[in-house]
Amino acid sequence: MTGTLVDITHVSKTFDLGQGKTLQAVRDVSFAVEKNSICVLLGPSGCGKSTILRMIAGLETATEGEIVIGGRTVDGPGRDRGMVFQAYTSFDWLSVRKNVEFGMKVNNVPAQERRGRADHFLNLVGLSKFADAYPSQLSGGMRQRVAIARTLANDPEVLLMDEPFGALDAETRWLMQELMIDVAEKTNTTMVIVTHDLEEAIFLADKIIFLSSHPGRLKEEIVPAFKQGARIADKEHIIRLDGYSDLEEHLMRLMREEGHRDV
Ligand code: ADP
Ligand code: MG
Repeated sequence: MTGTLVDITHVSKTFDLGQGKTLQAVRDVSFAVEKNSICVLLGPSGCGKSTILRMIAGLETATEGEIVIGGRTVDGPGRDRGMVFQAYTSFDWLSVRKNVEFGMKVNNVPAQERRGRADHFLNLVGLSKFADAYPSQLSGGMRQRVAIARTLANDPEVLLMDEPFGALDAETRWLMQELMIDVAEKTNTTMVIVTHDLEEAIFLADKIIFLSSHPGRLKEEIVPAFKQGARIADKEHIIRLDGYSDLEEHLMRLMREEGHRDV
């Protein structure tokens, strides 16, 4: 890891709800994402995680503060950022390979290079055998792997993921988390991942940004020290490490402090 790639300073977001009403979703949040690291935004539902991610993506504008990526201030979407959403966003009329090639085609990448890069990233996510299949023939986890391959093939500096495995069953989710560790190790892609799942956060994060509930403020910035700066490739290994359950307990306490007590 070499320095900061994404710098978020004193960012607030107030939505205009019309008829003179406003809603502050994010209040004075500052944090940095190191190059080649995985940063996880964690917090209770409605605390502003997606809003922060969308501001990094340039899909929402910060009301106050600034987001700088690699020295450039964000003022809209750009090819330096790639986003993976929870809902599967594949083009059902295109084969898996054509889905992965799509962004490159839009960006006028020559056909041969497109094909090579598509095959490379399909291999990375374990879908080489399904290159000629159509998304409707794939499981949810496989479709999400298509979305990840397609986004990575555009060579973003930052991969942004909003609850990317939220729609998957537990076992698939677990395999996808392991896949992301593998992808991070092999591609050195900087990632910002939104989740409300504590285990997912602990497993994936080099750094956890815990947000307090409404309006979202930075409650705690946590580096999982028990990993000793390394990433752990499989889940059955990480849960046995000293410090894992202490961190899980700590996050549970934070979540309970911030959780909605009126449910
Ligand atoms: P999270 O992803 O942590 O669940 P969100 O960022 O989606 O939270 O939402 C934070 C708050 O901002 C919520 O109260 C939500 O209703 C509100 N919000 C999000 N997007 C909009 C919008 N486009 N217009 C108005 N309010 C919004
Ligand atoms: Mg959200």
